[in-house]
Amino acid sequence: MSHKVHNWQLNREMDYIYPESRPDKQVAWVFDTNKCIACQTCTMACKNAWTSGKGQEYMWWNNVETKPWGFYPLGWDVKLLEKLGAQNWDGDTYEGKTIFETSETGEKITGYVPDKEDFSYPNIGEDEVSELVKQGQYIKIPHQPWMFYLARICNHCTYPGCLGGCPRKAIYKRDEGTVLIDQKRCRGYRECVRACPYKKSMFRTLTGKSEKCIACYPATEKGEQTQCVQNCIGKIRMFGFKNQPGKIDPKNPIDYLVHIKKIALPLYPQFGTEPNVYYIPPINTPESFNKQLFGPGAAKAVEMYKNAIQDKSLVALLMLFGCTGKTVYSFEVQGDIETGHCIGYDEKGEEIVRVPIKEPIIIREKHDKERNVNRISIS
Ligand code: SF4
Ligand code: SF4
Ligand code: SF4
Repeated sequence: MSHKVHNWQLNREMDYIYPESRPDKQVAWVFDTNKCIACQTCTMACKNAWTSGKGQEYMWWNNVETKPWGFYPLGWDVKLLEKLGAQNWDGDTYEGKTIFETSETGEKITGYVPDKEDFSYPNIGEDEVSELVKQGQYIKIPHQPWMFYLARICNHCTYPGCLGGCPRKAIYKRDEGTVLIDQKRCRGYRECVRACPYKKSMFRTLTGKSEKCIACYPATEKGEQTQCVQNCIGKIRMFGFKNQPGKIDPKNPIDYLVHIKKIALPLYPQFGTEPNVYYIPPINTPESFNKQLFGPGAAKAVEMYKNAIQDKSLVALLMLFGCTGKTVYSFEVQGDIETGHCIGYDEKGEEIVRVPIKEPIIIREKHDKERNVNRISIS
């Protein structure tokens, strides 16, 4: 039996296994794809924290793949996109089928279980561009050929495929929206692996149970951001708690980027799980590719990002990414773009971080008289 639930990312009702039950606050992330350098520090931070045990060798709860040719596991998205059929949008409304609505396939949830080997090449396609560079070709904007880095973790979906697919009811969503697998109840049927469209529920042969990203809840419960956020070299990530779509708080950084500016978009919203990792789309990729990945708002988001320097609140908030290990519950902008600051506050409203909107450039003397040395780098 299925229930009618509202999916705001599709701008319509859809079928889901359980009735709508939306947490008041929902763990959520914003990733700025334009700043990612694929250093994989996030990947290693997660691995060191959570998946360094026996039987977890192939598990990368966080991975960074180069689009269009990178996949972990192999071909995860193209395989599902093919199964879903036509994915048309009428404006902001999705007209195609979600993974919960393609009943003609005979499956409760459209999905598949990847082969073991599919997880064996997490770096496949890394740094490969979309097409061969022709002899004599010069780079123009938008870049032809193109590529970008897509960092991926579990989306702690509002309508998780993994949870809906589990026949043991071993998967649950906590009050703050974190999706967890109860290891005592799991019997390793791999129905969550089949049903997760992002392939972020993984089977551990050694224990015969499935495991997934736990949103670093021991850290987030203490007011800290997740490991993959805290360690991000490119400062592309922000973790926080999103309010329900009807209860948006403009001071909440995630609400502001996702619901007010609409610059941060879900990955493959057409799957229907209402994922809660939101991406600022890449600015140098074809519009049609961005639309397929991030939905119909992608072109507007790209334009907004290109003009962000003229939008004081937006540029100020973007400067806050990666500047504190603590979770920012609200933000405030003081002053003008040239000399002002962006301030982040914790749950109690106490200031935890303050950054200049425009980073000062300090040029030092090439010859340091005090130490009697010449500097190579002076800025
Ligand atoms: S640490 Fe940050 S910049 Fe490096 S690969 Fe991960 S998301 Fe990208
Ligand atoms: S991304 Fe996959 S594993 Fe994570 S909550 Fe959604 S369906 Fe479940
Ligand atoms: S939130 Fe924590 S568990 Fe999840 S991918 Fe990031 S570091 Fe790993």
